[in-house]
Parts: sequence; structure tokens; C-alpha cells
Amino acid sequence: KPTIGVLALQGDVREHVLALEASGADAVLVRRARELEDIDGLVIPGGESTTIDKLLRAFELFEPLQERLRAGLPAYGSCAGMILLADRVLGGIAGQRTLGGLDITVRRNAFGRQVDSFETDLTIDGIPGDPVHAVFIRAPWVEQVGPRAEVLSAVSGGPAAGRIVAVRQGGLLATSFHPEVTGDTRVHKLFVQIVRDALQVRALDLKVGATG
Ligand code: GLN
Repeated sequence: KPTIGVLALQGDVREHVLALEASGADAVLVRRARELEDIDGLVIPGGESTTIDKLLRAFELFEPLQERLRAGLPAYGSCAGMILLADRVLGGIAGQRTLGGLDITVRRNAFGRQVDSFETDLTIDGIPGDPVHAVFIRAPWVEQVGPRAEVLSAVSGGPAAGRIVAVRQGGLLATSFHPEVTGDTRVHKLFVQIVRDALQVRALDLKVGATG
């Protein structure tokens, strides 16, 4: 079983822990840099990206986590977590930083002040079967996707039609919405599979390194 951390500084941590455990992973909370050493992947939950950014620095986690991500730690960011994994942010506050890694530009609170929250059904690449019911809460959307990132889903109807809300780049996955609140664990299962694949590739690399 892969061990997947949930960044537990702010946001809906518990829901992600439950969704991960229902998806075949061992979930552990991450608040300290040394806790990054024992995880095979990390979930960055929704919450408030500006607050999580400040707390990452206060807990001296920002640099160690950024290093782990650059070294290939798989990560899944939901909502505020998507913002933290994005290379570029529109509508951020002065001085807001992101961990980066995803070659995307996100717009914070993009869906408008009137509609703080909305729900819709999405087709997501890599998730066969019924559409995924997606809950958006003061969510960002992906305004621009660079050549390294891959679009997994866009809104299909309504005023936000065409807006990109799920992306992947190698071991990094991000959604504008909150799959952890619906009881549908397919997005978490997709991430657990990404983590398993990364572990397998690393094991192969080690073997090749040892024999070659
Ligand atoms: N609006 C929040 C932000 O900018 C994200 C909201 C959420 O994670 N539900 O960080």
C-alpha cells in the first residue's frame, strides 16, 4: 500500500484522509518537513491558498516540499491545492507564492462572486464510467495550459462552459473542485494509481541502476 500524506496546515484534511483510505492508500498527516520523508505522494487540500502559503513558510515546509516536488514526489491539489501547484496565478494577493510544478496559469475565485459555489457533472480523462459530480467552492479555473500540462476535464455547459477544471502533468494532478466531499472516490483512486506507477518506475530505476 502506498503511503500518501495530506498537508494538514489548513483546509478539509479529514475528508481527504477518508477518501485516500477508501482508495487503497495509507493516509498520514503532514505538518513537519521530516514527515515528507516517509510519503510516496501528497494531497494538498482545499482551503485558502494565501493562508496555506503563509503557513507553509511559518512551518518551514515551503522549501523542503518544493524540493520534494521538484525531485518527483507525486501530488494532488484540490482547489486551493491546485493554486499552490500552479506555476502562475492570476487574482492572487501581493506576495502570494506557489510551490509550482504544473505548467498552468490559474485564476483564483474565477467563477464569480455571485456564484461562490456550484455543482456540475464532468467527464474526466482517465476516469471511465459515469460522469463525476463536481462541487466547486470559490474555485479557481485554469486560464492557460502550457505545453507540458495535459487537460483532463472542462465544464461542459452553463456560463462557465469550456473552462478547464482538471489537469495532469506527470505525477502532478489538480482539480478546481472538491471530490472529497461527494463520496465518489474515483479521483482519489486515479491519484493512488499515479503514486503506484511512480513507485514502480522508481523501483525499476533502482534495479537498472544496480545492474547497469
Ligand atoms: N478561494 C480559495 C483560494 O484562493 C480556494 C477555495 C477552496 O479551496 N475551496 O485559495
